[in-house]
Amino acid sequence: MLKPEGTTAVNNEVEAEKINELINEKKVKKIVFAPSRVEIWEVKSHKNSSNIYWVDTETKYCSCKGFYYSFTKKTCYHISAVSAALSQNAYKIELLPDSGMNDYFSSQIHNLINNNI
Ligand SMILES: [Zn+2]
Repeated sequence: MLKPEGTTAVNNEVEAEKINELINEKKVKKIVFAPSRVEIWEVKSHKNSSNIYWVDTETKYCSCKGFYYSFTKKTCYHISAVSAALSQNAYKIELLPDSGMNDYFSSQIHNLINNNI
């Protein structure tokens, strides 16, 4: 069977470890806006907690560089971390009012531009 590059057993083990760390260190957070119920998943970087990535569980999108550069080969471990956190019920939830949505997005986009580009 053909395997895409980067999905060797060793990589999977390393990724499983990173995912466990993200969950144990409570770096997976769901932001829920009310009353609209818009939901955003945030995952703090494994290496640098000031880097925060957005994950969309429906479209399987992540804003990290790894996703950007290798999404044709594999998904990044932040997406797997959100799925794992969901199934283990191990994530933080932050409720924000809809009135704060603009501020939230502008500060997150600012963060994304400063840390990823
Ligand atoms: Zn990612």
